[in-house]
Amino acid sequence: MPLNPQPGILDIELYVGGASTLQGRRDVVKLSSNENPYGPPPAAIAAMKDAARLMHLYPSSDHAALRAALGRVNGIDPDRIICGAGSDEIISFLAYAYAGPGTEVVHTRHGFALYRIAALAAGATPVEVPEANRHVDIDAVLAAITPRTRLVFITNPGNPTTNRIAEADLVRLADGMPDHAILVLDGAYAEFADGYDGGAALAVERVNVLMMRTFSKLYGLGGLRVGWAYADRGIIDVLNRIRGPFNLGAPQLAAAEAALGDTAHTEKTLRENARLRTWLRDQLLSLGIACDESHANFVLARFASAEAAQAADAALKADGIIVRYVASYKLPEALRITVGDEAACRRVIAALRAMTGVAA
Ligand SMILES: *Cc1c(COP(=O)(O)O)cnc(C)c1O
Repeated sequence: MPLNPQPGILDIELYVGGASTLQGRRDVVKLSSNENPYGPPPAAIAAMKDAARLMHLYPSSDHAALRAALGRVNGIDPDRIICGAGSDEIISFLAYAYAGPGTEVVHTRHGFALYRIAALAAGATPVEVPEANRHVDIDAVLAAITPRTRLVFITNPGNPTTNRIAEADLVRLADGMPDHAILVLDGAYAEFADGYDGGAALAVERVNVLMMRTFSKLYGLGGLRVGWAYADRGIIDVLNRIRGPFNLGAPQLAAAEAALGDTAHTEKTLRENARLRTWLRDQLLSLGIACDESHANFVLARFASAEAAQAADAALKADGIIVRYVASYKLPEALRITVGDEAACRRVIAALRAMTGVAA
């Protein structure tokens, strides 16, 4: 008998992350992974150094302190929160706990690659739903749900689309969910969407709506791997049963908790991001490059063709700027560009201006 993995595993394409180096260049600016351009919160660095002194001790297994802080900051019940090694781990928990052979996992056409990976890893069938001009089509999502559906993954605001679902449509989606499936609202970029609570209010009152959040984007801790979810106690209890008891290290927990308190850092990040994403979009439009209004910390630059997008990608690389070509998200004519600091944004536009030949 040959040594074979479980069915579905070999259908998974290996995840390719955003590049971070360019050969022979030292002034590289990386705008391919939506990282915080202002670095980690200073309070998180201090907390991590402090926690390093106790690295010989096993960490908290119930994450009580971090959950309490998350409860305070978000006005939600800490007993309904679970923390994971990035929201990536929460996605895996959900798939292993609720999906499996004979079940379906719904995601949208331009949705996060990990939804499909987690579904296949659990032996479930991923079901892709079309989007309407890069906007989540609520009716199409609802129409794709069958008696076999267990999970519906929706990113809001969307990555890489930058678009936001209207509040009334979110309510309609949540209300349209059958009892046998969980609506997962991935709010990785929720803080960047003005006035959006990430889906917290929807999850408060429903037993099958889960809000997923991360410290990787606004909080600048992508390298630490801390994510969390908020849902009905029934779901949290199920997920905790398959969670490794020590899935987060003590320095991670300490840094994440401190990051929540570093409001100077988060406020600066939000203020600069809002200002510069508008500026970036205006500049792109003036160069004849299409771009929707962004509700996240990146913009999606859409070119006339896949070839034009690849040429722009090459021109940016030649200038030491790494962005994300999003053909794998089924947007072959587009580049996803993280909103960097002001100098980075100006470099992007200068490079594209030189390429397009549009005068300043
Ligand atoms: C970045 C991102 C996350 C966060 O993943 P982590 O594992 O918490 O770093 C989740 N969902 C989407 C759509 C993202 O873009």
